[in-house]
Amino acid sequence: MLAKPEGTSVIAPLGLRDPLGKPSGDGTTSAEPNLLLSRVRPQLKIRTGPSGVHIFDRATGLNVLLEEACVPPALWATAPRQVSVALTNTCDLACTHCFAPKNPAELSFERVATWLDELDANGCLGVGFGGGEPTLYRHLVKLCHYAATQTGLAVTFTTHAHHLDDSLAEALAGAVHFVRISMDGVGATYEAIRGRSFSALRRRFETARRLSPLGINFVVNAQTLPDLDAAATLAAEVGASEILLLPEQPHQGKGGIDAGTFDFLCRWVNLHNGTVPLTVSETGADGLPTCDPLPGETGLCAYAHIDASGRLKTSSYAGNGVVIGDAGVMRALNVLRTTQKEGLE
Ligand code: SF4
Repeated sequence: MLAKPEGTSVIAPLGLRDPLGKPSGDGTTSAEPNLLLSRVRPQLKIRTGPSGVHIFDRATGLNVLLEEACVPPALWATAPRQVSVALTNTCDLACTHCFAPKNPAELSFERVATWLDELDANGCLGVGFGGGEPTLYRHLVKLCHYAATQTGLAVTFTTHAHHLDDSLAEALAGAVHFVRISMDGVGATYEAIRGRSFSALRRRFETARRLSPLGINFVVNAQTLPDLDAAATLAAEVGASEILLLPEQPHQGKGGIDAGTFDFLCRWVNLHNGTVPLTVSETGADGLPTCDPLPGETGLCAYAHIDASGRLKTSSYAGNGVVIGDAGVMRALNVLRTTQKEGLE
């Protein structure tokens, strides 16, 4: 059974990383910090929603869900449970499957910090920084420390890891709760896709492991599928806590994962008996055996993405979004929710 984690996905097997926002009764939001939240900082966070009371410890990744607790809608958290932020579109690799926008764009530290404050105060549990390549974002260290010390959010980032040296790991120490390393295939497959040395990547796993718990992001397509067993073995060897499977999505004329490859992936997942837990992106999970302990939290209740141009979207794959203006990220969220609702009607 797969859990659908954050990023492009949902959930966190009862075990996530963050507090309780201060939802208001009319669906609008308040940036006023909740007193309970401020008392339990910096590690434990409580989030209320349709599935009950969710207690999250960002230090350990432990999630506890009190599903017997029936929380009235007026008290549900209003921010998504998890938000990913593309800090920059800049990247020094050219992976064959990359769907990240190529227009030059970068978010300012001040804007992101303000959004994190808002999200935190309204019940969000975690932020995942990405790009582009977030280690090429000049404010990454400052931003991670800000999020870790000034908010109750769990801090993660997704990286190709080739800049994650001892110096950067030392600068980030204590400010990151989980690192996701992109590794599509092993050995020659990896090098063909990413154009970088696989042995160099292996050394980066050791550095990352000293920084925080880590996971491996694995884009699944016909080229990488044969390497799944080797990737699972390597994940165990380097002490990874999770393998996030990302069935390749269609983009810019490329077809994404084909039906035969997806069928094989389903069989592989069903037979998998490795020691490292599997998770899968929500986009592309249909047909895979998944579990979701928070079924009442879907769509923008569970997850949202902010791109490097400052647009709030339902996912990093989504073409459209809402520009986050001076009124803030929660205002943009309400606009996006309304737009979605009207589109359905
Ligand atoms: S490392 Fe990520 S952002 Fe950079 S080219 Fe590869 S997939 Fe795209």
